[in-house]
Amino acid sequence: MESIIRIENLVFEYMSGEDESPVRAIDDVSLRFEKGSFTAIIGRNGSGKSTLAKNLNGLLLPSSGAIYVKGWDTKDEDHIWDIRQSAGMVFQNPDNQLVSSIVEDDVAFGPENLGIEPDEIRRRVDKALASVNMGRYKKKAPHNLSGGQKQRIAIAGVVAMKPECIIFDEPTAMLDPKGRSEIMEIIKELHEDGITVILITHFMDEAVQADRIVIMDNSQVLLDGTPAEIFAQEETLREVNLEVPMAVALAERLRKRGIKIPEDIITSEGLVEFICQYK
Ligand code: ADP
Ligand code: MG
Repeated sequence: MESIIRIENLVFEYMSGEDESPVRAIDDVSLRFEKGSFTAIIGRNGSGKSTLAKNLNGLLLPSSGAIYVKGWDTKDEDHIWDIRQSAGMVFQNPDNQLVSSIVEDDVAFGPENLGIEPDEIRRRVDKALASVNMGRYKKKAPHNLSGGQKQRIAIAGVVAMKPECIIFDEPTAMLDPKGRSEIMEIIKELHEDGITVILITHFMDEAVQADRIVIMDNSQVLLDGTPAEIFAQEETLREVNLEVPMAVALAERLRKRGIKIPEDIITSEGLVEFICQYK
C-alpha cells in the first residue's frame, strides 16, 4: 500500500517564555497513513492530537524528525502549497475558518489562492457545495447559518481544493447531535469517494466508524489498531479516560445476561442487526 503521509520520529516542542523549558507536545511519533484509508485519532485533552494534526500539513514544523506528504518534506518551503493543497484541514470552530461574507466566496477562497481559473473555480464551488448539501445557500451570508451548516461550508472550502487527504480536528465538538451526524455522513462520503481521512474526535461513536484507530497519550502513540482491536482493550482505555462506544458497553452487559454477542460487534448498526436476527 502507498502511504500518503509518513511521520518519522516526530518530536515537536512549543517554546514558551524565555526562561521556561520547552513543552514537548509530540515525543517521538512514527505513523503512516495509507492512501484512501480512514483513521480516527483519539486521546485525552493535551495528549498532542492537535499538535500532530498541524504538523501534517506544515502549519507547524517538526523540532526533530520529519513528515512527508506525498513524498514532500513539510520543511521544504518550495512545496508548502503542494502540501497544503494535498492535505486539507478542518478545525473545531467553524467561525474561525470562514473568511467571506458570502458562502460561495468562502468556498472559492482556497482554489483562488491556488491560482485556479475562474470557470474552473465556479465548477468546483458548485460541486463542493453540493457534496455537503449546501448548494441552495450559495448566495447566503455564512454568519446567518447554524454551526453545523458553517462547518459544512468550511468542509466545502477544503473539498474545492481537491485534496487527497483531509484532516479533521474535532469537527463536531461544537455541534448539536443533528449537526454532528450530518458532518459524520459527509466525512464517510468523502472517504467513499477515495479521500484519505484522518479524524480527531472525542466521540467514540465516531471513532468506531473508522478503519483504524490511533490512541495518543502523553505525547506518544499508545495504541494503533482496528476499532475491534482497540475497543477490546477496555482496561487500557479506562486508564487514559476514554470510554468504549455505546454498542460495545451494551454488548458487554447483554453478554453478562447470557446473550452471546460476537466480540467484533462494535457499532450500534452492527448490534441492532445481530439482535434482530437473534433467536
Ligand atoms: P490535544 O489536541 O490532544 O488536546 P494539544 O496538541 O493541543 O493536545 O496539546 C499538547 C500539549 O501541548 C499540551 O500540553 C498543551 O498544553 C501544549 N500546547 C498546545 N498548544 C500550545 C502552545 N501554543 N504553546 C505552548 N504549549 C502548547
Ligand atoms: Mg486538540
